[in-house]
Amino acid sequence: VRVNFSVILKENGAIDGLIAVLHDVTEQEQIDEERREFVANVSHELRTPLTTMKSYLEALSDGAVEDENLRDKFLGVTQNETERMIRLVNDLLQLSKLDAEDPNFNKETTNYISFLKDIIDRFEMSKKQHIHFELKLPRGPIYTYLDRDKMTQVIDNIISNAIKYSPDGGRITFKVVKKGNHLVTGIRDQGVGIPKENLTKIFDRFFRVDKARSRNLGGTGLGLAIAKEIVAAHGGEIWADSEWNKGTAIFFTLPLSKGGSYDA
Ligand code: ADP
Repeated sequence: VRVNFSVILKENGAIDGLIAVLHDVTEQEQIDEERREFVANVSHELRTPLTTMKSYLEALSDGAVEDENLRDKFLGVTQNETERMIRLVNDLLQLSKLDAEDPNFNKETTNYISFLKDIIDRFEMSKKQHIHFELKLPRGPIYTYLDRDKMTQVIDNIISNAIKYSPDGGRITFKVVKKGNHLVTGIRDQGVGIPKENLTKIFDRFFRVDKARSRNLGGTGLGLAIAKEIVAAHGGEIWADSEWNKGTAIFFTLPLSKGGSYDA
């Protein structure tokens, strides 16, 4: 409830009365407020790279183009910023699809263990830094019912973060365990960590612990928000555990396919 007070004064300035208006801040108002905030965030996120590009392009046309080193450096910056904007717009489109009444999921029975291994292998092949991967996965196949493209994106986002925030030589551990009728996946790194008070906020749209750092690393601030929507659409949950300066673990659950009926 929001309260507005108005003071009624007499002609001589003395207080004559007080009017209190109680506003019921309804759910609709809250949604409107969130929407306004979201649009403001999007505008800001787009304006930052555009302003950067504008100044670098101005410098180029003011003569920096004659200097080979400056030219390459400035063009590199504008290219990076363009790529980040494309990622941002793609993430926004994806979120808007996930927000739709009926997001289009294409779920199939999937052996989760080999599915996860394939994704990890792809990162193992392409990773540039010196980072070790450790796998603690159950042996046999375990079946889940999932949209492979969408869950690939969830896992990609989590692994890219783990790599981004890891020190050189760090270890990333992947662990999968059955718990009741769920499968819990944990991806743990030895990176910078997340302060305790931010552990739930990192799944909010555009929340970053360190904005400048995230931007420098090419982040959009939307990766985990997208992951949260996708995991929820699979009937699972996602959360984080972390110790500042020691590392972060992201966990998510997925329901197991029942009674081995999908084992065929
Ligand atoms: P970003 O594009 O900024 O990485 P995400 O939604 O993927 O956006 O993550 C939100 C924020 O959560 C990041 O900016 C970072 O502050 C924090 N974060 C996510 N994963 C990790 C991690 N493995 N280690 C440390 N901080 C992390």
